[in-house]
Amino acid sequence: MLGEGIIKGMAETARNFLGSYTDPARLVTVEFPEEKVPAKENARSFPFLIFDGDDAAKGLRCVACQICEKECPPKCIYITKSKDKKPDYVGKSQFYPAVFDIDISVCMSCQICVEVCPFEAIKMDTEFELSNTDRFGGLLFDKQKLAKPNEHYHKIHPTEAAEVDGRLGAEKAKLEAKAKADAEAKVKAAAAAAIPKPAPDSSAPAVVK
Ligand code: SF4
Ligand code: SF4
Repeated sequence: MLGEGIIKGMAETARNFLGSYTDPARLVTVEFPEEKVPAKENARSFPFLIFDGDDAAKGLRCVACQICEKECPPKCIYITKSKDKKPDYVGKSQFYPAVFDIDISVCMSCQICVEVCPFEAIKMDTEFELSNTDRFGGLLFDKQKLAKPNEHYHKIHPTEAAEVDGRLGAEKAKLEAKAKADAEAKVKAAAAAAIPKPAPDSSAPAVVK
């Protein structure tokens, strides 16, 4: 029948409109900003940098490889690599970002920086109330502002964070086991080298060629 779809759509709209007065499940809007709907686990706004432990300067996972900076489509990430190195989460000496800025006013929340990062160092936040009257300085986030603890990642994306932690933990355990095996092999080799070789037997008959 001509217009059947329109009639059905209007009936559904009317059902939801009237139902919203009696059934909380049909009340799909809230009085924002007084009332806020918690962000869904897969929600994303802008990137942040993860740090482990309780010191952002020491625990930042980023090693300033600059892959995210190169891959960011609107080029809103600015990184300056450090001159010196510091130990990463497994104790390996790594560079770190002396400067790591993201221009949030340009970022399009595409998540490509997250997908290309080989170090699980950058993730998407869910915070979105970031309006600011300072168009330039106020929306250029530096590494101090971007750094958030791993606990924050677990709070906003628990499933994903647990999977990442499991993988990093297994990788760390594998590296530690390898380091232990290498150290043991070195000790064995040193002990073997320290054993004196037996002196040649003088009573044995000389070989005449
Ligand atoms: S989310 Fe996309 S646009 Fe924003 S910083 Fe990452 S790569 Fe760039
Ligand atoms: S966030 Fe990841 S991809 Fe970007 S510079 Fe740091 S380690 Fe490299």
